[in-house]
Amino acid sequence: MAIDQLKARRLEQMGLGPVWVLRMPVGHALDASRSESAAPSVHVPAPRSEDYSSAHANGAIPAMDWDTLESTIRSCTSCGLCQGRTHAVPGIGDRQARWLFIGEGPGRHEDLQGEPFVGPAGKLLDNMMRALGLARGKHTYIANIVKCRPVGDDGRDRPPSADEAAACMPYLERQIALIKPDVIIALGKTAAASLLGVGEDTALSGLRGKPHSYAGIPLVVTYHPAYLLRKPADKAKSWQDLCLAQRLYDER
Ligand code: SF4
Repeated sequence: MAIDQLKARRLEQMGLGPVWVLRMPVGHALDASRSESAAPSVHVPAPRSEDYSSAHANGAIPAMDWDTLESTIRSCTSCGLCQGRTHAVPGIGDRQARWLFIGEGPGRHEDLQGEPFVGPAGKLLDNMMRALGLARGKHTYIANIVKCRPVGDDGRDRPPSADEAAACMPYLERQIALIKPDVIIALGKTAAASLLGVGEDTALSGLRGKPHSYAGIPLVVTYHPAYLLRKPADKAKSWQDLCLAQRLYDER
C-alpha cells in the first residue's frame, strides 16, 4: 500500500479522515491568511519577580538530573503561579524521546491530575502523535512552557505572562538538554514565541510552515490542540506542519 494511502487509512481510523487530508506537498508555502485565535482569557498582571524566591539564582538547574529537576519543579516558588496550583506539571513521557511536544501550560484538568494534555485537547494531541506513528510515552515527551496553571481572576485558564514564562524557562531548557530530542513541535503561539524568542504579537501564521531551530534542534510550529478543537478546519494545516516535522526528523 502506498504511503499516502496508509496515512489516509490511519487518519480515517482516527476519525479525522477528510479533515486531515494533505492538500499540498509537504514544504509548500502555507496559507498565512488565518492566524490562531487566542484562548479565552483575561489578563492578569504579572507578579513582580522579586516577590518570589528563586531556585534559579543558585544556577543549579543546568546540572540537575531528572529526579532532582522534577522534585524541584514540584516545590518551586519562583513565580506567582505557585500560589494557585494543585499540582505542578513537569511533563510526561520517554526521557530519551526523539519527539518533544511543548504546549503553553497546564489547564484545570492538568492541574488536578499533574499530567500535561489530559482531557479533549490531550486526546487530540494523542491522535496527532498517532498520525505520525507515535504514542504518548513511546519516543515522545510532552512538556509545557510553564509548569503551573495560569488562572485568571474568573477562574478560567489563561496564557502565561512573559515574566511567568521567563521564570519557568530554565526548567524546560534543562528538560531539552536531558532529552536531546531530534525534533521539537511547539504547540501554539505562546510556546512558539517563548522558544523562538519572538514577541507575543507575532502571528502564528508567520511561524508555521517553515523549519526553525532551537539550540540546534529542528523545531516546527503548529496549532495548539485546544485551538484545533475550536477550529477543526485548521487540522489540515496542522497535518502539514506534522509532515514537515516528519521530514526534518527523517533528515536527521
Ligand atoms: S510556573 Fe514554573 S517558575 Fe512558576 S512556580 Fe511553577 S514551576 Fe516555578
